[in-house]
Amino acid sequence: MQAAEQVLLRTKGLTRRFGGLVAVSDLDLEIRPREILGLIGPNGAGKSTTFNLISGFYKPSAGTLFVFGENCTGKSPLAISRMGLVRTFQHGSLMSSMSVRDNILLGTIHGVSGAARRRERTEETAAMLGLTPHLDNMAGTLPHGLQRLVSIGIAFAARPRLLCLDEPLTGLNQTEVADTLTVLERIRDEFACSILLVEHNMKAVMKVCDRIVVLHHGQHLASGTPAEIRNDRKVVEAYLGHRHDS
Ligand code: ADP
Ligand code: MG
Repeated sequence: MQAAEQVLLRTKGLTRRFGGLVAVSDLDLEIRPREILGLIGPNGAGKSTTFNLISGFYKPSAGTLFVFGENCTGKSPLAISRMGLVRTFQHGSLMSSMSVRDNILLGTIHGVSGAARRRERTEETAAMLGLTPHLDNMAGTLPHGLQRLVSIGIAFAARPRLLCLDEPLTGLNQTEVADTLTVLERIRDEFACSILLVEHNMKAVMKVCDRIVVLHHGQHLASGTPAEIRNDRKVVEAYLGHRHDS
């Protein structure tokens, strides 16, 4: 009982092959309640594949996925999202010709019943994200940073226990990055929601994450606190040492 409470999601030996290529190899991963877990690594390291595996979009070639202690290997994306895991996509997931309100409303469909409750949840979510003044604007007309918050709003409208974000900071300016990080901290602290964050902006990752897991060639290379990861020789050699944007 206690173990299930302490671990929100656990993978055991998670593996995914594409033909001869092993995109994710024998991965043991653990996501705990109320934590922002960074998942980092070079391009092609297997981050998006891991995302797709834990959200049910890909079936593993081997290994097991537990959500709240329950074996969820092979379950559909919908079944997994009903257990409280929600994700965004690397290339955005909003409907640009719909209003911000209708976009966020879409996100309430699987989590909230009744039209009045859905409207209320939509407004509450917009307020949390600072989107209230933009509720009736067409989403596609907003600046990049606000569009990204709308995508997070769609995912968070269902009030998941785990929110998985694939590169939510790409293309944002410094102010937009800072605003988004504040939102992520509020989601963790005020809603007790964990966040799995795949992100290339190392400064932001180091600032906001409680723990970090580093992937390299589909394998677990290291995990630890931001300070531990920054000082890990293997990580610096494989990844951080080659980067110039931190
Ligand atoms: P990352 O998100 O860390 O950049 P990915 O998980 O997207 O890495 O990719 C890991 C490896 O798996 C890459 O070599 C990529 O080309 C390969 N890959 C990912 N998805 C597919 C797919 N659907 N079909 C074939 N190969 C794939
Ligand atoms: Mg990716």
